[in-house]
Amino acid sequence: MSSPQSTIPVAKPVLGEEEAEAVRRVILSGWVTQGPEVAAFESEFAAFVGAPHACAMSNCTTALHLALKAVGVGAGDEVITVSHSFIATANAVRYCDAVPVFVDIEADGYNIDPSLIETAITPRTKAILCVHQLGMPCDLRAIVEIGKRHSLPVIEDAACATGSEILWDGRWEKIGKPHGDIACFSFHPRKVVTTGDGGMLTTANAEYDRKFRLWRQHGMSVTDAVRHGSKQVIFEDYDELGYNYRMTDLQAAVGRVQLRRLPELVAQRRRLADQYCERLSTIPGLSIPTEPDWARSNWQSFCVRLSDEIDQRAVMQALLDQGISTRRGVMNIHLEGAYSGQGSHRAATSLARSISAQQQTVILPLYAQMTEADIARVVETLRQALAGAGTGRVVRQPEQAVPA
Ligand SMILES: *Cc1c(COP(=O)(O)O)cnc(C)c1O
Repeated sequence: MSSPQSTIPVAKPVLGEEEAEAVRRVILSGWVTQGPEVAAFESEFAAFVGAPHACAMSNCTTALHLALKAVGVGAGDEVITVSHSFIATANAVRYCDAVPVFVDIEADGYNIDPSLIETAITPRTKAILCVHQLGMPCDLRAIVEIGKRHSLPVIEDAACATGSEILWDGRWEKIGKPHGDIACFSFHPRKVVTTGDGGMLTTANAEYDRKFRLWRQHGMSVTDAVRHGSKQVIFEDYDELGYNYRMTDLQAAVGRVQLRRLPELVAQRRRLADQYCERLSTIPGLSIPTEPDWARSNWQSFCVRLSDEIDQRAVMQALLDQGISTRRGVMNIHLEGAYSGQGSHRAATSLARSISAQQQTVILPLYAQMTEADIARVVETLRQALAGAGTGRVVRQPEQAVPA
């Protein structure tokens, strides 16, 4: 069925003349790859989150790879993480020839259940890789304590969490201010701020930061920028295996503008999320996301949970028929073909909550340009779709039963 109304996408980056002008300025400067714009973006990002060091990367997946490598994750090691995440979380572990060890998520949220982490620790465990899923901070306090108790570094997959905050010793602090050992961010267009593709590593550890800078640029002992600016001839060395994981100055120039927009983008997303919560609370059988009192989400994604008998795909289709785009909730990495092979992963606990979250949650549209009328339209369309459950249209068939 076609709709005369405009379509509502699930997400939309906020990009305008300022970003276009920033790219134009970089192009005309003649220096387009990692250089002065990257350096400026790094120091502005470090100041924003409150981290001593910030190192820009080509994306968050490469950031995760170097973070794991920096803390010494190598062949045969184990890294405790969640299956309920974007596949890149676990892929980065496998780039180190290590094994992702999955534990389940909390009963009342979409983040790692800290009470399951210790059961997963073995003599091979080398790190804990937690995820601030959908922008909602995970229980970092509990996770960092477990890490300390077992001398395990904590790496934060903060891909979705730029601008999210956590209450720490009575103060609201940005995700990325070092609480764990290293935090990794993404600037993919589905995240709250974007550079097309891009990533950032933050840490308090100067040695990690030095390694990131070396490895992201082929292991080269001097950067292009230093060689270019030198009055003396410099020959570089390559003492270690490196990668090309650089961010370009074109991307960084966009990132600097996006970072200036970020506080207002997060404030607007929080207002919209409040409107969703208020309106959705009147729909029976639907669970709306909750924010712990120690967390402030940037609402990178707004995820609702359908009751078990409702067919997720049918609800999503009913919304799409009305011009409203949604996504199913977070995937389960262990269910993908790439993780079916021997040794590709280990499940340390039941993953029933992760599986049921994938099958029963729907990500609703949320982007800063949305109006209250858009929110109202999404909610009313969802209400009508779920009312269709009474007629059996969006009810699960028995063979689609959700595992307990
Ligand atoms: C988006 C995302 C990534 C990957 O980020 P890229 O910048 O696209 O590499 C990793 N982890 C999580 C949880 C994500 O949502």
